[in-house]
Amino acid sequence: MAKILINKENLFYNLNIISQKAGSKDKVAVVLKDNAYGHGLVEIAKLSKEFGIKKAVVRDFKDAHKIKDYFNYILVLAEQDFHNYSHTFHIALNSLEQIDKIPSNSNVHIKVDTGMHRNGISIDDLEKAFLGLSQKKINITGVFTHHKGADELSTNFFWQNENFSLVKKSVKDICEKLFLPLPNLHSCNSAALFRKIDFDEDFARVGIATYGYLEDDLPFNFPKLKPVMSLWASKMATRTLKKGQSVGYGGKFTALEDMEVSTYDVGYGDGFLRLNENHCYKTPKGFQVLGRVSMDNLSINSTDKEVCIFDDVRTLAKIHNTITYEITCSLKENIKREII
Ligand SMILES: *Cc1c(COP(=O)(O)O)cnc(C)c1O
Repeated sequence: MAKILINKENLFYNLNIISQKAGSKDKVAVVLKDNAYGHGLVEIAKLSKEFGIKKAVVRDFKDAHKIKDYFNYILVLAEQDFHNYSHTFHIALNSLEQIDKIPSNSNVHIKVDTGMHRNGISIDDLEKAFLGLSQKKINITGVFTHHKGADELSTNFFWQNENFSLVKKSVKDICEKLFLPLPNLHSCNSAALFRKIDFDEDFARVGIATYGYLEDDLPFNFPKLKPVMSLWASKMATRTLKKGQSVGYGGKFTALEDMEVSTYDVGYGDGFLRLNENHCYKTPKGFQVLGRVSMDNLSINSTDKEVCIFDDVRTLAKIHNTITYEITCSLKENIKREII
């Protein structure tokens, strides 16, 4: 059976570096959306709690309910249907229109658009949001924003920081005026946290760094982290491929001499993005994925019972012209996650 191994030591190593940079474990909210970037929602929740993390960020209430025993603070980024609300959750407010739908007495973090122009209200609408929420007796427990390119070499990061400074000032003024307590203020994802020289916000929302990845080919001086996930596959069948014979759909790999070839039980149906004749990929042990990946299996020049398909997805991300996030997120929930 194919399986995903979760390396606890590496996860703790990353969380330790992240907590140090943030100032303490209390200032880290681990981002667990989309099955913890494919690593396993409950597995990563349990381990994060064991490490001492108390805050988490998820996509919707369904996921928040699954992990509510592990955290005392859960921010839900993108829920649209609020009947399943529990009072340990904090809901992100993504637009002014949403205020009508959010139940009274719930906790809300107002998302402010500081330049990404995806979700969030404009800076000019902050007071309107505070008033609308207060009138409905909704607790404003946070105000936050998101960076559009903290991991890119451009001025956007500084520009959005400036804009969020204005947001902070404005929030202070509004809270004084309306006699409201000051909410938590937060703007940093992984890359932003490590780019900030003097991080002093209430917490950071850390996803990809938790799992061991940060862009390392840019001059940001990011710390070296350790990938947490590895994908393993089991052998299904071995055969000798005679010189001149081809393997798999389209017969796109042809043996130049007699060779032993085995199929392993992982394919694009499991979310392992399809490699084909245009991409040469070698496993960490140097075995080559031969020809095209099938839905439920792939062929390798190995006879080992089990093969590590990857233990660092950066190579695959480059091959597929995508980001590490997509490679790990794509792996289906039905693959067994095992903590080592
Ligand atoms: C996904 C997400 C994060 C985490 O980003 P990373 O780059 O993985 O650290 C933080 N904040 C918001 C709003 C997000 O959607």
